[in-house]
Amino acid sequence: MELGRRILVAGGAGFLGSHLCERLLDQGHEVLCVDNFFTSSRRNIEHMLSHPRFELMRHDVTFPLYVEVDEIYNLACPASPVHYQFDPVQTTKTSVIGAINMLGLAKRVKAKILQASTSEVYGDPFEHPQTESYWGNVNPIGIRSCYDEGKRCAETLFFDYRRQHKLAIKVVRIFNTYGPRMHPNDGRVVSNFIVQALQGQDLTIYGDGQQTRSFCYRDDLIEAMIRVMGTTDEVTGPINIGNPGEFTIRQLAELVIEMTGSKSKIISLPLPSDDPKQRRPDITQAKAVLGWEPVTPLRAGLEKTITYFDTLLSTPASAR
Ligand code: NAD
Ligand code: UDP
Repeated sequence: MELGRRILVAGGAGFLGSHLCERLLDQGHEVLCVDNFFTSSRRNIEHMLSHPRFELMRHDVTFPLYVEVDEIYNLACPASPVHYQFDPVQTTKTSVIGAINMLGLAKRVKAKILQASTSEVYGDPFEHPQTESYWGNVNPIGIRSCYDEGKRCAETLFFDYRRQHKLAIKVVRIFNTYGPRMHPNDGRVVSNFIVQALQGQDLTIYGDGQQTRSFCYRDDLIEAMIRVMGTTDEVTGPINIGNPGEFTIRQLAELVIEMTGSKSKIISLPLPSDDPKQRRPDITQAKAVLGWEPVTPLRAGLEKTITYFDTLLSTPASAR
């Protein structure tokens, strides 16, 4: 990637966005972080506020944005089921209208634009592992649909802007990613289990815990995203980014209990509807196109994440 570009990170104050901003600053770029703080707080980006190449703009991407940039990463969207189901209509608006606004901006200023899509476009998949050519099995009217269908429609918009307006687009399909700076109450499984274990509470497995997920450490994910943006204009994706190591949710719970040395028990709660039974990325394309594969095993990533939450939880809530 060329040095010294002006880069917009929409959703830049979030878990992944804030790390992306850091990496882009480290690479010598100017970063414009745009966020409405729906699921994040200024604390995630506080340490960058005095950086001469960092700028923060409080803005909701469902409204048009007029700025001058060379590249756009569109990460603006609540990502955890608890957050995206809180105001489902707003979730769809954020994905769809947000994508239209970001694409319109990219068209006006001729910027390259990357969409943070998701493995949720595969729904509860019949193909396993999931390759990019699989069209998915998504319920259009369920409680996860605001997110899944919003992200699917955003992909459609990206490819139509490519076909109609010749935009340089990149679509990455992110599989479950975890790490420090996840929100402790966002309801995602890794943060839930670690927080529960550290606080001596029961670990809540939804259903029988035999459903699987593949967990990618955030540094591996950010590295891949930046590599995707650096590819030639012919590379559009969609491209799977994730760690193919596949674990049942019960295995994850047991590992977290072992690693934290917690005395917590595991309990079962009802499985939410449309919860995918299995998920594992086929990353053949990412390996070939980006020369990338994840290097952080689950244990190593969990260790860092546990340390993060341990420190966070021992800080008074008012100072977090
Ligand atoms: P996050 O909730 O921490 O970050 C999302 C950010 O977007 C937050 O800072 C939030 O305030 C902001 N935002 C939400 N609505 C907005 C709006 N209308 N206008 C401006 N900002 C808005 O979640 P994350 O895990 O960092 O996810 C980042 C992106 O990656 C999301 O688009 C998500 O769908 C995608 N993704 C993440 C994962 C994962 O496992 N972490 C998996 C698949 C896809
Ligand atoms: N899950 C769980 N207990 C929790 C939170 C989540 O068993 O406290 C399960 C959830 O039902 C799903 C998996 O863990 O099967 C991953 O959930 P998450 O919300 O992290 O992500 P997603 O379902 O979007 O992959």
